Amino acid sequence: ASRRVHCTRPKAMAAAAAEAAGAAARRANPRLSANPWCEPWWYGAPEAARAHYYTEAHVAFRDKVRAFVDDKVIPFVDEWDEAGDVPESLRREAYAAGIYGATWPAEHGGTPPPGFDAFHDLIWVDELARCGAGGVLWSVFFSFGISLPPVLAQGSQRLKEMCARPVISGEKVMSLAVSEPWAGSDVAGLRTTAELTPCGKYYKVNGEKKWITSGIKASFFTTAVRTAGAGIGGVSLLLITADTPGVSVRRMKTQGWLASNTAYIVFNDVRVPASNMIGAENQGFLPIMLQFNHERLVGCVTSNRFARTCLSEGITYAQQRRTFGQRLIDHQLIRHKITEMARMVEANQAWIEQVCYEMNRSRITGEGDAMGLKMGGKLALLKVQTTKTYEFCAREASQIMGGASYLREGKGRVVERLYREVRVNAIGGGSEEVMGELAIRGLGVWDGGDKKRGSKE
Ligand SMILES: Cc1cc2nc3c(=O)[nH]c(=O)nc-3n(C[C@H](O)[C@H](O)[C@H](O)COP(=O)(O)OP(=O)(O)OC[C@H]3O[C@@H](n4cnc5c(N)ncnc54)[C@H](O)[C@@H]3O)c2cc1C
Repeated sequence: ASRRVHCTRPKAMAAAAAEAAGAAARRANPRLSANPWCEPWWYGAPEAARAHYYTEAHVAFRDKVRAFVDDKVIPFVDEWDEAGDVPESLRREAYAAGIYGATWPAEHGGTPPPGFDAFHDLIWVDELARCGAGGVLWSVFFSFGISLPPVLAQGSQRLKEMCARPVISGEKVMSLAVSEPWAGSDVAGLRTTAELTPCGKYYKVNGEKKWITSGIKASFFTTAVRTAGAGIGGVSLLLITADTPGVSVRRMKTQGWLASNTAYIVFNDVRVPASNMIGAENQGFLPIMLQFNHERLVGCVTSNRFARTCLSEGITYAQQRRTFGQRLIDHQLIRHKITEMARMVEANQAWIEQVCYEMNRSRITGEGDAMGLKMGGKLALLKVQTTKTYEFCAREASQIMGGASYLREGKGRVVERLYREVRVNAIGGGSEEVMGELAIRGLGVWDGGDKKRGSKE
């Protein structure tokens, strides 16, 4: 026993010293929280401890995004969300600051930091998500992240020139229009048709799209259409401009994400140039599926940051509020709620970083689509994990804050908003049930059952 004490004490002392150094590092930067659970683990870590994932370039990028969000976004999000809109100028301001285009290639007007990789991407999303308003994030910063990639990957030079630079620089807005009233999870069941006209120069598009983020503001829609028979083999992607006759758009009322400009779109005999086809006809399903990987990574990172924000708000409130003669945090049950939240958020952070590490590797090895398909299962499982964590933390933080968390003003307003935004994260971009299925199939844990195996039993 004495030997054990002898061995563990120096380790414990070293760990405590490292933690103290981390806290000091966080305190030295006034923009960082001194509380270790309110920031990702590496924010206070010395260079040697974080070097496996994060370089000095990542630290500098983090500080740049944080400063923009602190100064130009957080002070205004409550007002924007309540108003249901964000000033157009924010996009241009964010672009000029090197934030808006930071994750896009320079050849299309992007402003990536030197050595841009998946960890820059993670930092970018995580730091933006500190604003605690998903509607602001998706309508301003993220919606073109799900609609532009198919054009860059598969689109003609003409299509790239038409939309990439205006969208990346914040001049124009772009949305992804896949879901329909009758086809959300089941993308292959979509019914919007695109028929080639007899002259072969146009497609005539008819159909309806539902829940389209930023749709009210969008100039371009990356639209999934049916160009052949049923199933995935008949799905194509068309770029449709919002000002084409026959396109009508109306705002949908949402539970949360009040500033997301979510739209219902009707295409009524819309004539779209055949040259607006993104990639080959009837080959649109795979690009849709591959773009989901990044959309889901964004969903994972935002969900975990929202969970961390709930944790952070809960801690702050528990340190201030007094009941029965002591602070809330002095009640063991409240401390237990806090540690339960921290346990999940911290574990998710490590999992997200592992996925980013694998994504970096796939870029280097050029495994491309094969890697993309493999990552599909991993990201699907991670999405379930992070959205369930977010849901748990929104609930627990609300309980800690009591009635304050039910008010759209005062100390509880951030948690109140995040609570209202939980469901869209657990449903949008692939619901938890469907993601679980994708994970167990995608990673080969389930072989598809008798039907897939061709059993005659
Ligand atoms: C705010 C918001 C913004 C959105 N933005 C966009 C956008 O910009 N572009 C876009 O194209 N789409 C968008 N969507 C649509 C979103 O992707 C879909 O809502 C989502 O894919 C789920 O589809 P659904 O709502 O039709 O649910 P359904 O597919 O009808 O499913 C209903 C429920 O049944 C479950 N379920 C379905 N199939 C199975 C199964 N096989 N086994 C077990 N359970 C199952 C689902 O998990 C879900 O809980 C948005 C949605 C929301 C809410």
